[in-house]
Amino acid sequence: MLALINGVLFDGTGSAPVKSAAVLIEGNKIKAAGAGVEIPGGTKIIDLKGKTILPGFIDTHVHAGGTVELRPNWPTFGGAAFSVDYSDARESALRWGVTTLRSAGDYFPDIQEASRKIAEGKLRGPRLYYHGPQIQAHNGHPAGTIWRNDPETCAKAGRYVKTPEEARAAVREIAGYGINYIKTMMCELNIWDYPATVPRLSNEVIAAIVDEAHLHGKRVTIHCERPTDAYFAVSCGAESVEHIFTFGGSPTDVPEDMIPMMVKKGTFVAPTLTGTKAFELTKQEPKDVEYKRYAMVKKIVKDISDAGVRIVVGTDSGAPDVMFGRSAHQEMQNLVDAGVSPKNALLGATRYAAECLGTEKEFGTIEPGKYADVVVVDGDPLTDISATMNIALVIKDGSVMEDRMLSV
Ligand SMILES: [Zn+2]
Repeated sequence: MLALINGVLFDGTGSAPVKSAAVLIEGNKIKAAGAGVEIPGGTKIIDLKGKTILPGFIDTHVHAGGTVELRPNWPTFGGAAFSVDYSDARESALRWGVTTLRSAGDYFPDIQEASRKIAEGKLRGPRLYYHGPQIQAHNGHPAGTIWRNDPETCAKAGRYVKTPEEARAAVREIAGYGINYIKTMMCELNIWDYPATVPRLSNEVIAAIVDEAHLHGKRVTIHCERPTDAYFAVSCGAESVEHIFTFGGSPTDVPEDMIPMMVKKGTFVAPTLTGTKAFELTKQEPKDVEYKRYAMVKKIVKDISDAGVRIVVGTDSGAPDVMFGRSAHQEMQNLVDAGVSPKNALLGATRYAAECLGTEKEFGTIEPGKYADVVVVDGDPLTDISATMNIALVIKDGSVMEDRMLSV
């Protein structure tokens, strides 16, 4: 057994932090947590004075097969072979305390195999959830834009539909692989060649995708370019809407009843502020960078959070300049910069994110019976959110993955 003692515990349940708390780990589970935990004799003890104990972080929107390399006429995206068994993504996530990733569209079946190997303990890495192929328009985004119509990428990472019937067939195929999340796209901007556009799925097709996914008990994640897309996605019952604002939207597009509808339906929102910021950067000269889009997004993010919608940390890691692991911390900082409370930013990377994945009974909080995914940081992230970056210790499934205290 392992006991973390004398730290401040932010357990992710939403209750107030507990001072001088202990977390007792037995095998891969949390046995006890809080003040006054009895530590049995013979337990390995780590003293965490001045440190905060948090649930392992969850990034709900990454692209495990993405790359940070941009070369003319090369797709920006690959599978396990391209990224060496996803090793950079896996290791980088762990060292930053991100113990769970959800890949929002990837090479299939590569991603499934990596996920299975990690679950079986044959590959070191964060828990890896995935959407598999993304349902999109022929020659739309991302196939006709950032994948540059690369035949292998298009075949492995996408399914292309035009009619509701084709869309339903694609959902049935993906559901048949045992994948729990269906990812689709509402977008038409060619981000390589903005403001040029590419074909977009019709709203009728989007509605069919959500309906068919729900018939199979699957959750739907929708990439939304404009607030009006998010509005339609939420009204159809999509469980999570991602990005909400990319280049095409404007704050004046936000329909009045969008946020109340998100509250009512329990929608999760992943604004991927870090990805948006990084993309804005690629369009500018470094000397006079201005985050105009980010500035617009921040306001709506605050309104959404203030209304009680669960904002989750999703970074778009794998996109250029969005680093696995590190970006989850940048996203929490960006959320706080937007006006989200540090507590809600932390919940967005822990409990809310687990609820978004439907895995909240297994992990996402530090409570007896949950898997022991734990991060220890120096300082207090509730007063300074950037303290989450001061990683001291990372435990996943009861195993120490990163130990910068040299304590274990
Ligand atoms: Zn994405």
